[in-house]
Amino acid sequence: MIIILRPEATEQEIERVEGLARELGLKVHRAQGLGRTTLSLGGSEKDLRAASFEGLPGVKEVRRVTPPYPLAQRRSPGTMVVRIGEVALGGGGVTLIAGPCSVEGREPMISIAESVASHGATMLRGGAFKPRTSPYAFQGLGLEGLKILAAAREKTGLPFVTEVVDTESVSLVEEWADVIQVGARNMQNFSLLQRVGKSSRPALLKRGPSATLDDLLLSAEYILSGGNENVILCERGVRTFADHARNTLDLSILPALRERTHLPVVVDPSHATGRRDFVIPMALAAVAAGADGLMVEVHTDPERALSDGAQSLYPEQFAHLSEETQKLAAALRYDAVSKL
Ligand code: PEP
Ligand code: MN
Repeated sequence: MIIILRPEATEQEIERVEGLARELGLKVHRAQGLGRTTLSLGGSEKDLRAASFEGLPGVKEVRRVTPPYPLAQRRSPGTMVVRIGEVALGGGGVTLIAGPCSVEGREPMISIAESVASHGATMLRGGAFKPRTSPYAFQGLGLEGLKILAAAREKTGLPFVTEVVDTESVSLVEEWADVIQVGARNMQNFSLLQRVGKSSRPALLKRGPSATLDDLLLSAEYILSGGNENVILCERGVRTFADHARNTLDLSILPALRERTHLPVVVDPSHATGRRDFVIPMALAAVAAGADGLMVEVHTDPERALSDGAQSLYPEQFAHLSEETQKLAAALRYDAVSKL
């Protein structure tokens, strides 16, 4: 941490800042130059966090030199691989996660699962507990939905990801699911994040609609600091003034995340755009930008879907996306080396 003092700071004010730093167990180095004094403080993250120098008399600016998320920050080159059964997410290819928005029943879920499995999906998705904006909208089948997802896994051999909407349901969901999803609306539900941090299941953390990159990584830090090392980040669009799509897909967060964290990143072009015809181009753009995976909504009868039908791909569109993704990934030589 660097503290820049005001040019007019008195010796007494500077000593007060130094004294506080030493009291907190920090090492202090004073440097004088260009008519001002700066203090470099060294110490553990915990000690630095305890310090609050902003606003002290004589202090102009406090700058952190290390990010406030020691576990989520990049420590080595390359992307961390999260293993989900035979799936190695972050291992160099593009993992395709596909399925309906909500689990609506056994037959539809199984037919969608079989369809996406035959077209290159390596993981299934489907909500059993749905966070809906309206309390009158379909809220999901709950436990019945989890059982249906397990049946779809049995049929296809593909693991599944499904959402946890509150702390109380985590134990139930982690019993059934391969990956537990924290939805965009819950990205800053800190007690939920803490509970997910205690889970032995990998977590897929979606970016909140108005979350900055630091907000997202601090939320990931909650899960990591609980002991759960397997965190997958998911960009799903943010809310902006643009109203031509449901959200604005912020692809520039991919290279920015790549720089700051080793955690793998999945892009969800379905919730980002809200429109079926926008999904494939944005999915491919995400692959080009370095996504480790895509999570897309697919439905065999989207006109009758209980949620998000308008953004769900028809199975043949998913087949096309899958083929194009493989071609593009190969063309970009998206192996572990090119992603560094
Ligand atoms: C979902 O993936 O089912 C979902 C509800 O997405 P989000 O949390 O991104 O809105
Ligand atoms: Mn949805």
